[in-house]
Amino acid sequence: MSTANITYVNSDWLRSNFPCMMACPVHTEAGRYVNLIAQGRYAEAYRVARAPNPFASICGRICAAPCEEACRRGKLDQPLAIRALKRFVCERFGVESMIDVIKLQEVLRPRIVPRDQKVAIIGAGPAGLSCAHDLALRGYQVTVLEKHTVPGGMLSLGVPEYRLPRELIRLEINAILSLGIQLQLGKELGRDFHLRDLRNAGYEAIFIAIGAHKSRMLNIEGM
Ligand code: SF4
Repeated sequence: MSTANITYVNSDWLRSNFPCMMACPVHTEAGRYVNLIAQGRYAEAYRVARAPNPFASICGRICAAPCEEACRRGKLDQPLAIRALKRFVCERFGVESMIDVIKLQEVLRPRIVPRDQKVAIIGAGPAGLSCAHDLALRGYQVTVLEKHTVPGGMLSLGVPEYRLPRELIRLEINAILSLGIQLQLGKELGRDFHLRDLRNAGYEAIFIAIGAHKSRMLNIEGM
């Protein structure tokens, strides 16, 4: 049989056909939600934008939007305002509207099939909390240990409030925690506990998401 007309869907094919999706760190189907917004199907657009990303509302405000750099429309005139469109649907249906929190509680949480396995996550920044969210939806018992007295990592400690309101961080994190995730603040690896303590306590997997807090210097002579 000839294979001349067969297209194999691999990462190269995806990159060239869905550059915005492949540029997004969580592979959001940006083209799909933009299209749904164009059709006025805002609730569906929100679901597409939120599906791979428990921090959709925050990303709608402060994501660096590599999807827009990759947007093919930019070759004609300007890229589509993908991030601003995400903010638009999140403000209508996301944690800002409380609809998302209610949906997580009333629709998604009862559907979770609980498992016995416990997972510990070290670090309550975006990576740790996203991991906690995804594992909780799969039924795992998740505990997040954070050395600071506030969760959110660089969202809370690095991004200034005028760029990202603290209330929005609280809402998005509370929505994640409402899936039954335990959060312990003020617990630092190596000071308050060690990895062996977690294993002895029955955690079968440990995800270390301690962040990248070291700042970068400006590339300016004399600095
Ligand atoms: S704005 Fe950020 S999170 Fe949203 S689709 Fe673009 S890259 Fe992904």
